[in-house]
Amino acid sequence: MEVTFLGTGTSMGIPMIGCRCDTCTSSDPRNNRLRTSVWIQKKKKNIIVDTGIDFRQQALRYAIPTLDAVLFTHHHVDHIFGLDELRPIHFLQNKTVKVFGTSETREHLLRVYPYVFEAGNCPSDVPKIEYHTFSNEPFIFIDIKIIPIPLFHGNLPIMGFRLDNFAYCTDVSRIPRSSYSLLENLDVLVLGALRDSPHPTHFTLSEAVDEAQKIAARRTYFVHMSHELSHQEMLNRLPAQMEPAFDGLKITL
Ligand SMILES: [Zn+2]
Ligand SMILES: [Zn+2]
Ligand SMILES: [Zn+2]
Repeated sequence: MEVTFLGTGTSMGIPMIGCRCDTCTSSDPRNNRLRTSVWIQKKKKNIIVDTGIDFRQQALRYAIPTLDAVLFTHHHVDHIFGLDELRPIHFLQNKTVKVFGTSETREHLLRVYPYVFEAGNCPSDVPKIEYHTFSNEPFIFIDIKIIPIPLFHGNLPIMGFRLDNFAYCTDVSRIPRSSYSLLENLDVLVLGALRDSPHPTHFTLSEAVDEAQKIAARRTYFVHMSHELSHQEMLNRLPAQMEPAFDGLKITL
């Protein structure tokens, strides 16, 4: 399994429009962060977690050849506003992308993208998706087992995902007790860490480090960082088995 980080930034992206802070004006490319998403290649299938605002740019930059499935963590704009960019998969490849999300995410997608769920549209106009609703139970995509990990993003229940010994948990501010057993014995944990000052719907970096220590994956990568956290500064502060992810980072499991 290969995982490529397509984006590692918070909802506004880094640099942030109009900001002149050290991170936003940094010449270190690792401080340039598109909206958080990962591309998983497994058993010759291409799966992405979330279609964020930057999906088109990410697909071109990292040469994503096609898509077989999308896993949605939740319905926030920075995680769903690239769904329309799946149109070329339909238009050029006449392919249906399987989309997996909760019933709540489906409701919000229906509201934002009603035309995607209507039949009979011209292939150039709509992405062709097949929506599959999951709840807390593991599900199978072809022959790939995907374990949803219930999480809280403020009061909003959202999902993380586990595939083999890889788990992806972005936009989280609380891990329910029952989810820790789903995060045992991980080779890689990807965990959201927004900034240093407290936030109602995201872990701070120190909260994320505490959680990562509790979960004790062999390696933890942080994502969804704001401009308050620069890459090098995070590297300097983090324990040896933890590091910030950056756009384009590729890991093989
Ligand atoms: Zn987000
Ligand atoms: Zn800034
Ligand atoms: Zn969110």
